[in-house]
Amino acid sequence: MADNIWEMTLNRLDYTMDMLGLKKGLQKYLREPRRIIEVRIPVKMDSGAIEIFKGYRVQHNTNRGPAKGGIRYHQDVTLDEIKALAMLMTWKCAVVNIPFGGAKGGVVVDPSKVSQNELEHITRRYTFEIIEDIGPEKDIPAPDVGTNAQIMAWIMDTYSMVKGHAVPGVVTGKPIALGGSQGREDATSRGCVYTILSILKMLGIDTPDLRVIVQGFGNVGSNCAKIMCDLGYKIVVVSDISGGLYNPKGLDPYKISENIKKGNTLISYNDAEKIDGSKIFDIECDILIPAALENQITSANASNIKTRIIAEGANGPVTPDAEKILLENGIFIIPDVLCNAGGVTVSYFEWVQGNLAYFWGKREVNLKLRDIMEKAFYDVYNMHKEKKIDMRTAALMIAVERVAEAVNLGGIYP
Ligand code: NAD
Repeated sequence: MADNIWEMTLNRLDYTMDMLGLKKGLQKYLREPRRIIEVRIPVKMDSGAIEIFKGYRVQHNTNRGPAKGGIRYHQDVTLDEIKALAMLMTWKCAVVNIPFGGAKGGVVVDPSKVSQNELEHITRRYTFEIIEDIGPEKDIPAPDVGTNAQIMAWIMDTYSMVKGHAVPGVVTGKPIALGGSQGREDATSRGCVYTILSILKMLGIDTPDLRVIVQGFGNVGSNCAKIMCDLGYKIVVVSDISGGLYNPKGLDPYKISENIKKGNTLISYNDAEKIDGSKIFDIECDILIPAALENQITSANASNIKTRIIAEGANGPVTPDAEKILLENGIFIIPDVLCNAGGVTVSYFEWVQGNLAYFWGKREVNLKLRDIMEKAFYDVYNMHKEKKIDMRTAALMIAVERVAEAVNLGGIYP
């Protein structure tokens, strides 16, 4: 990875804590993860050979509630990345003011290179290795890059088998039939869209012909494209690891999804011009949604970007150097800790529903999500205006102050 995401995350935190004037001891406390778990995952592969995979779970903070965060399956997973993403989860839960701390997990594996059977064995053994450190009151995993509802089902089943009874509250983002929530699958994207609609209103530029570019066509990207398309906006570019599709008249994300579901690549879709994935940031648009991985917009490509709004569907897609260039060019950035917090918000709803064993309809979930996202957006936007600071600093100041208050009230044990 070109830029170390852990160093970047710490630098941003240090800046925020200085702005808040936090005492040095508290600063030291907030910089450190509470718990780092590293495991080895032996798996008998379909060939009969034994492979060993590396896995991590990091719990950054639990002062406001149990730790919460996704599990990533990707060949480039590192401990630094998981530490950074765990810390980001602490701030994300605090920005939307839900009672969780932050965590993240990861396994170093390319899920497209292993069979379903091998994926199940990796998941079950990983779960077993971290079983004493997760649980509905301790730490609740969810899907992230390379993981999905099926993987959450295997985690829940493994945990339940070991504990001797069904424990749906151990994961969120699980299938509805196992106690999942309505609306969880597209919650991150829906939350992202609520923040986009709020800023369009504030900037007074809400016309339906706005052009949208989406990088990444997985859970977050494809659902962002679909929801924005449903609202009448024009999706001019979508891309994934296979490359990009461009159509200035507008793409149909539903048809692109259907084509992928048949086992085809994104770029095999016909009704569009195929472009190199690295060229998508050269195309002019009004709203750019990076929804793939971190460090996609760097000082090398930031000055080419011609958009009015960047909505960070992904975690950490813009490096600090790139952010300076974008802000100087007058681009409005909705930062990840706010923009993609819809996923963890509906995960919170799933956890609440599971604990109560009482389930809500999709409309109720989406309305509650909108309330939380809009409240968080305006808290951050008002702080950004009042203090004349960028949106990321405003979001982090709100979040870090909430966590700092919780630490101060609880004190340091013993
Ligand atoms: P996913 O695995 O479903 O999809 C990732 C997509 O990115 C895939 O389409 C992949 O092909 C594409 N991609 C990977 N590298 C790329 C590249 N170099 N250029 C273009 N596309 C590339 O993952 P996801 O769950 O949609 O997560 C995407 C981002 O959103 C991650 O940063 C994740 O941490 C963040 N996020 C996800 C959730 C969630 O609920 N799933 C919640 C909050 C944040």
